[in-house]
Amino acid sequence: MTVDINAPYKTRVKQALSDPHLGVALTRGTDRLVNGRVTSMTAVDGERVRDEVRQMKEHTLRHLPEYLEQLEQNLIANGVVVHWAKDGTEAARIVREIGLQNSVESVVKSKSMATEEIHLNHALEEVGMTVVETDLGEYIIQINGEIPSHIVAPVIHKRLEDVAQIFQEKMDMPPTLDPEALCSAARVRLRKDFFGAQMGVSGCNFAIAESGTICIVTNEGNGRMVSTMPRIYVVLMGIEKVVPTVEDGMLQLQALTRSATGQQFSVYCSMSSGPRRPGHPDGPEQMHVVLMDNGRISMIERDYAEALLCIRCGACLNVCPVYQEIGGHAYGSTYSGPIGAVITPLLSPELAMAKDLPHATTLCGACRDACPVKIDLPRMLVDLRADLVKENAGNKAEHLGIQAFVKMAGSRQLYEQGGKLASLGSNVLANLSGGNIKFMPPPLNGWTQHRDFPPFAKKSFREWWGERQTLRNRDQ
Ligand code: SF4
Repeated sequence: MTVDINAPYKTRVKQALSDPHLGVALTRGTDRLVNGRVTSMTAVDGERVRDEVRQMKEHTLRHLPEYLEQLEQNLIANGVVVHWAKDGTEAARIVREIGLQNSVESVVKSKSMATEEIHLNHALEEVGMTVVETDLGEYIIQINGEIPSHIVAPVIHKRLEDVAQIFQEKMDMPPTLDPEALCSAARVRLRKDFFGAQMGVSGCNFAIAESGTICIVTNEGNGRMVSTMPRIYVVLMGIEKVVPTVEDGMLQLQALTRSATGQQFSVYCSMSSGPRRPGHPDGPEQMHVVLMDNGRISMIERDYAEALLCIRCGACLNVCPVYQEIGGHAYGSTYSGPIGAVITPLLSPELAMAKDLPHATTLCGACRDACPVKIDLPRMLVDLRADLVKENAGNKAEHLGIQAFVKMAGSRQLYEQGGKLASLGSNVLANLSGGNIKFMPPPLNGWTQHRDFPPFAKKSFREWWGERQTLRNRDQ
């Protein structure tokens, strides 16, 4: 990983931009996903699908307590043990205790952003459990000591050549660029892990309230093995993942697969409605579902409920001109791209802890146009900037500069004097540069690091207009 996710935001961005292979990998990956989504959504009435999913998610969110209670009742009726976690620490503790109480030594996981959000692997490894990621992309970054850089395609920041190199170094594979050979090698290793694991952990793409069913979507079948082979199956889900009915789940599935990978339907959709019952040939002996808040209710309270409509398809990342340049690691958080820039500050104990992310955007609106739930991400990014200023967590120099401008713009005399000063100063600097300004003093030097700055006009519009009128009057 060329980006140090613990470094300051600007350093992370610089590191990402200076990696010559990252841009190639991101272009290849995002182009493929964007083209797939457009083709797949055009093949159906994409607008209708988007409207219907949004209506369904809005309805669910308006009645969230009722649907969560219904889900809980039906899960319990199906023999599932239900746990509630107010935050990530509690959620991790619950999963860890389930493992410890059952003497679990080895855990297999299906790809899950919720578990990434609470750093579950670390929590389990701390008490001696071995955790193996079984999604191929997650497996690659796990053996390479990295974190996912995309909601759906965790290894999108790597080219095939990079992946081959990792397999050579970490798995003693002979050099090859044959994807099938690489997949087979991983499959052989993972099969042993599936057979040896006592506990499987997954996230949840959606949970159906009316039947108490957990649905996970994969393309590799690893989710089904995680949910059926070990004797304990644990699901960690954010509370916003509930949907009312099977039909609602299928509607969301359609929007999800088409927007995420351009598929009409994922290769696997595994639905679990409880542990193994008498007479069943297979399935887990125990099934647990952890319903996690971890900042989601506070999103509703803070007027950012719209962010909870997200179905984690990753389409907004793929079209974002910022993500396309810097990739996911530069965001320094579990969730990247436009949706990450919105929810990371909101999931943090304080907005200020992720204050740079609402600025990691051009506000072009491509994310809103691509989103299958029509989430107005640009509006929320602007609202977050305003909230940061209100909470005094914005950029201090920028804040002071804007305050000074507001004061100046409120007084004609000050405005004219300020304009004269800016014109004088900028023209002196332009003369020194022999044309446009090539260097400005701090804190304005960021501008001239990458482009020239044209000097202010020598006369203000008002002066020019006054002179023009004087000449006209004289000529009449
Ligand atoms: S905000 Fe929309 S486009 Fe982005 S991940 Fe969520 S559902 Fe997908």
